[in-house]
Amino acid sequence: MIRFSLKKKLYGAQGDFLLELEFEIEENEFIVVLGPSGSGKTTLLRMLAGLEKPEEGYIEVKGEVWYDSKRGINLPLQKRDVGFVFQDYALFPNMSLFENIAFGMKKKDPQRVMELLKLAGLKQLKDKKPSVLSGGQKQRVALLRALAREPKLLLLDEPLSALDPETAIILREEIKKFQRSFNIPTIMVSHSRQDALSLAGRVLLLSEGKIKSVGKPKDVLYSS
Ligand code: ADP
Ligand code: MG
Repeated sequence: MIRFSLKKKLYGAQGDFLLELEFEIEENEFIVVLGPSGSGKTTLLRMLAGLEKPEEGYIEVKGEVWYDSKRGINLPLQKRDVGFVFQDYALFPNMSLFENIAFGMKKKDPQRVMELLKLAGLKQLKDKKPSVLSGGQKQRVALLRALAREPKLLLLDEPLSALDPETAIILREEIKKFQRSFNIPTIMVSHSRQDALSLAGRVLLLSEGKIKSVGKPKDVLYSS
């Protein structure tokens, strides 16, 4: 179970607003976060990852306290067991695909890296650098790198939005497949209703830093 309560003042384009979010995620849930640009979606993920500090609140992940303003606890990024995939791939350019995936593993397991590469259809390219890959392939590697460490929480910030539509559809199916076989609770920020409909157990709709609506994809999407 993951629980958080977060407060932070944000400087929006239309003026300041207070991000104020309280939420609980069950084991292995897939949450898709939707909301207009500037509503605080990325900030939410960055606070969970430890890249941004809330002003008040707590973050508890599977019994571990990552942040608690009252108790003065704020684990740094390195101590939070998260996998993070950004919109723009962010692979290590000087490492091979194999090294990229092995990088974050808690226990180095070359055989597992090969399994993952095979799963992604990239086994032949294991010794190549990311620069030889297409956007879709890079994002697949970024996803595998995040999954390889078997994190307690997987955070995906618009991982499909820089891809062409066909590639996005394929990768969306793969994310679904991976998430099912890895059983890692996931929060994915997206702009796409299709992502929400095909991936989400629950959708969280944000507006100006607040939860506007939460529930099953169809209920949230067709009532807003
Ligand atoms: P989204 O990902 O939903 O588009 P963001 O979370 O990136 O939105 O940003 C929400 C708003 O908060 C933006 O207006 C941004 O300028 C502002 N913001 C982002 N980071 C900070 C910060 N550390 N302090 C204050 N305001 C911030
Ligand atoms: Mg964003």
